[in-house]
Amino acid sequence: MENQIEHFSHEHPLTLQNYIIPEPCLVCWQGITSPMYLCKEELCCGSFRIHKSCSELPRELPQHPFHPHHSLTLLPKSPYDSGTLWCNACGKMSWAFTYHCSVCQFDLDVSCASLSPIKIEDPYHQIQHLYHPHPLIVCDNKTNLKFPCSGCKQPINGSRVYVCLDCNCLLDESCAKWPSQIDHPFHPQHPLTLLVHHPWNLTSSRCRACGKVLEGFTFHCSECNFSLDTRCASLIPTQNPEAKDELQIQQLSLSHTHPLIPCQTKMGFRLSCDACQLHFDDSSVYICLECNFLLHKSCADLPREVKHSFYPA
Ligand SMILES: [Zn+2]
Ligand SMILES: [Zn+2]
Ligand SMILES: [Zn+2]
Ligand SMILES: [Zn+2]
Ligand SMILES: [Zn+2]
Ligand SMILES: [Zn+2]
Ligand SMILES: [Zn+2]
Ligand SMILES: [Zn+2]
Repeated sequence: MENQIEHFSHEHPLTLQNYIIPEPCLVCWQGITSPMYLCKEELCCGSFRIHKSCSELPRELPQHPFHPHHSLTLLPKSPYDSGTLWCNACGKMSWAFTYHCSVCQFDLDVSCASLSPIKIEDPYHQIQHLYHPHPLIVCDNKTNLKFPCSGCKQPINGSRVYVCLDCNCLLDESCAKWPSQIDHPFHPQHPLTLLVHHPWNLTSSRCRACGKVLEGFTFHCSECNFSLDTRCASLIPTQNPEAKDELQIQQLSLSHTHPLIPCQTKMGFRLSCDACQLHFDDSSVYICLECNFLLHKSCADLPREVKHSFYPA
């Protein structure tokens, strides 16, 4: 039967479906609506499902550019006792379907294995990036896979994906440019150090500028337990021409009781105003480091009675 196959990963025959299955494919975990094979055995109850395209993935990758010295084998489940595995490219955990090197315990999920480096003249396809502390592999961004950036957690929109096999990170262009340490005017006392992975051990796991829960890249001062996420680290106070020192760049708003710092950002700023919930255009971000609020200047100037409905007491 042409619409039935045997697949090495499953003990029952699989049948090609011509209706849309809402659950994600067990190989790629993407919900892409393309033809799927389903197991129709009673025991499996249709819970085993893989894309037709994923069923045709090669079982061996003899020379993947991320791991050129050994061949990678596609395994249907985790080779480790824990039953889980972490992709060496994106750092994400999964349970099944990994391209695995048993010599190095190196794993690539199928999405990351599909990334192809663009620097073919370099045998290791690596570049030493100007800022990121490790070599980055520059890859074409696949339009059908929405890779989230490990730094800012936003989908990677540019034409390039930067892979760090030291950090197990996929980065967009902006986040690939973060150095391992920055000086930031929100915390002028000490330099802030880049923490690549989510700092579960931090006492305060919120950004000290916007108050949002930290995820992805965090800039941290361990002495003061002060942290900024990438969005707020990209905010630069706009220099008041009359300002002679740091304190004077803080402008008192008409009705807000704390100093508000007018800021500009160079990166696309995807947060919204804590008062009106609308997005910022790049020039109008005001920040209160006491309240951890980001506001439009116009919203900060609202009369106090109106403002109170936005502000928890
Ligand atoms: Zn799939
Ligand atoms: Zn991955
Ligand atoms: Zn290896
Ligand atoms: Zn990013
Ligand atoms: Zn790195
Ligand atoms: Zn923030
Ligand atoms: Zn500090
Ligand atoms: Zn305030």
